[in-house]
Amino acid sequence: MNELYDVIIIGAGPAGLSAAIYAGRAKLKTLVLEADAEGGQIITTDEIANYPGSFPAESGHSLIARMSEQARSFGAEFVSGRADSVTLDTDPKTVRCGDAVYSARSIIIASGARPAKIGCPGEDRLTGAGVSYCATCDGPFFEGLPVFVVGGGDAAVEEAMYLTKFASKVTIIHRRDSLRSAKSIQDKAFANKKISFRWNTVVEELCGEDSLESMILKNVTDGSRVRITGNFGVFVFIGTRPSTDVFSGLLDMENGFIVTDSEMRTSVPGVFAAGDARVKTLRQVVTAVADGAIAAVSAEKYLESR
Ligand code: NAP
Repeated sequence: MNELYDVIIIGAGPAGLSAAIYAGRAKLKTLVLEADAEGGQIITTDEIANYPGSFPAESGHSLIARMSEQARSFGAEFVSGRADSVTLDTDPKTVRCGDAVYSARSIIIASGARPAKIGCPGEDRLTGAGVSYCATCDGPFFEGLPVFVVGGGDAAVEEAMYLTKFASKVTIIHRRDSLRSAKSIQDKAFANKKISFRWNTVVEELCGEDSLESMILKNVTDGSRVRITGNFGVFVFIGTRPSTDVFSGLLDMENGFIVTDSEMRTSVPGVFAAGDARVKTLRQVVTAVADGAIAAVSAEKYLESR
């Protein structure tokens, strides 16, 4: 006979762990499912310098370890597994992971998102060693240095402007000859003297063993290549991919991100979403943990009302 949980939390990043802390402390019978390593995207971040209380800055690994221990201390159970399929509109709701099926009266989806990658050689190896996907997190490390921003959407252009606070110069590398971003954002970038553009250009290779030493850029119009060398950073903003495929068609979504209200309620009663997987503007640890807390309290209220 399967155990019936009050809440299953899908994902053990900051949003899921925060939800587990709040749900466990509210004495809800709580199960946390994690497909990969606990911690999600921040597990590989060396320094979390902007999370309140994380001062001096601590590593993502250390912060997650403490959150996980805290959730366990309140009784949350953890199991390793990837949700292959779910039923959300049934009672109980179910999550299938391989041969195992878990049942719960409510579900909190905290499955996160991942930045889209360029896919060029060297990118994975040099992530966190000169290559970044988060200006808020890593911009201050490039104080006084040139940085390159890859992409031409709102995120790339806004983050490029943010990076001018730190960098000596910001060059936007875009694969076409015009930006995708909103005209109002473009106008500000064009007026910013610290920002320049390399049009019709893609990053072909990021080079260096332990840290970024150079990169090869290719002009897609004439095929010419140039190697950039020196001490610089590369920030990639070419979109964000939510980890929500398994929920497709079961919930209201926008571009794969789950739509919630301010109480983290999705379009299905008893199903909540928290963190990067939902539609939101600022994807940071501090907003993820806030979402997780709200989702757990909403789940508690939902269970009490039934
Ligand atoms: P986006 O709008 O999808 O733009 C992605 C950019 O990356 C595009 O310029 C695209 O080039 C480029 N790109 C995609 N794949 C690439 C590749 N493999 N190599 C090189 N370049 C590649 O993504 P986003 O900027 O992250 O924005 C996502 C959503 O959030 C959008 O709806 C955006 O409006 C919103 N957002 C809004 C704000 C704001 O309102 N302030 C801020 C940030 C984000 P092409 O143009 O050639 O396709």
